Amino acid sequence: MYHNIVEQEIPNAPDWITIALLEQQLAYLQKKKYTFITPHLLLTPHLLPKKPILITFDDGYENVYKLAFPILKEYNINFSLFLIANFLSDETITKFNTWDAEKRPKAAHLSKKMIIEMLNSKLLTIGSHSFSHQTFHQLTEKEINDELMLSKKQLESFFLIPITYFSYPGGYVGNKKNTFNLLKKHQYTLAFGGQKDVVENSKWLIKFNIKRINITNESNFTNQKAKLRFEVIIHPLLNKLSTFNKLNFLIHFLLPFYK
Ligand SMILES: [Zn+2]
Repeated sequence: MYHNIVEQEIPNAPDWITIALLEQQLAYLQKKKYTFITPHLLLTPHLLPKKPILITFDDGYENVYKLAFPILKEYNINFSLFLIANFLSDETITKFNTWDAEKRPKAAHLSKKMIIEMLNSKLLTIGSHSFSHQTFHQLTEKEINDELMLSKKQLESFFLIPITYFSYPGGYVGNKKNTFNLLKKHQYTLAFGGQKDVVENSKWLIKFNIKRINITNESNFTNQKAKLRFEVIIHPLLNKLSTFNKLNFLIHFLLPFYK
């Protein structure tokens, strides 16, 4: 899960990752023979290639078009973009991340034209990241319904393709049962969460709460990979061991992954 791609590191924004680091990570994955999949393959997990990886960008920033897209094109990499329907720029108005104004540096959102150009490359899959980027744990059921409905309607009318994938703003699902029912009602087929859910549940592929790793400038990619392995596979195992065995396990089994 990526957000902003920048030329230089930005203080206090560790998940704004540099284009150099993105390129290094994509080259590493390609060298290690990962297959860059599109989200629809997650609906039929038995058809997944051996080493699948899904590259996603949340929020829909202009820097994805300006900096990341040329590299994704060069490496021929499939990627997915989750757009905030009410925050798309057009030829006359550039919209900024005012929904995030106090917390983060200012960043321009993608224009419809840029998104269409990326869609035409056939590498891009788009989904909804809500209408206004309000986090679901703070909304009523009616408001969540409207966020799902309006964003889908708006994006479908802009791009003339079905919108069936969703990514939760801030990774917050809200009341799982209610949200999952609303997703079904509006004909979404997959929904993506944040990494904070990874530890909670050892099963990462839950259709409406798919786990992702948040990529930041603070950790290198090999560590991120080890982190995923730890959180998804090893953490649930570890819970079952005594303290002595835990230490043994960490020293002999886990440390090699960090090298
Ligand atoms: Zn977001």
